[in-house]
Order: sequence, then structure tokens, then C-alpha cells
Amino acid sequence: METIGIKQTQITILDNACVGCGECVKYCPMSVFAVVNRKALPVEQDICLECGTCIRNCPEKAIRIAGLDEQGILIKETTH
Ligand code: SF4
Ligand code: SF4
Repeated sequence: METIGIKQTQITILDNACVGCGECVKYCPMSVFAVVNRKALPVEQDICLECGTCIRNCPEKAIRIAGLDEQGILIKETTH
């Protein structure tokens, strides 16, 4: 398991869904993604703003970010 720090965004690319189209590279304002061997990789995930733009623009719904729902909207915490 990866240790979760104060601000470490957890981005997961579903490899079997990603088609390497590069839309996430094009739309991410922080250049978090690179496409390597026709698969997206979150190479700069520490600078992610959690804006959800990549999730909304991925045609294959291949991007998951911890704390954001499938529309890229922040999931409200109910515990505090
Ligand atoms: S937009 Fe989605 S399908 Fe396209 S490269 Fe990025 S993760 Fe893969
Ligand atoms: S949530 Fe925003 S900043 Fe983070 S990877 Fe997606 S588009 Fe880039």
C-alpha cells in the first residue's frame, strides 16, 4: 500500500480501458499525464489540482481519482 501524505493525489488509470488517445494530456491544466506505449501515465500526480477535467474528458472513463466521483466532482466527506 502507498502511504497517503498530506496532499498526495491518487490517480489510477484503468489500463484495460485506456486507449492512449491523449485527451487527458491535452485537457489537464497541470500536464500531469503522459502517454507512453499507448497508455496514459500520471507522471506528475503530486501537482494535480483535483479539478476533475481529465475525468470529464476521458472518452473511455479510464481515469479514477481518489476523492472525486465518476463525473470528476469532489465527493463530500460525511465524517466531519
Ligand atoms: S483520455 Fe482516457 S483513454 Fe485517453 S489517454 Fe487519457 S486515460 Fe487514456
Ligand atoms: S484532476 Fe485536473 S489537474 Fe488533476 S490530473 Fe485531472 S485534469 Fe489534471
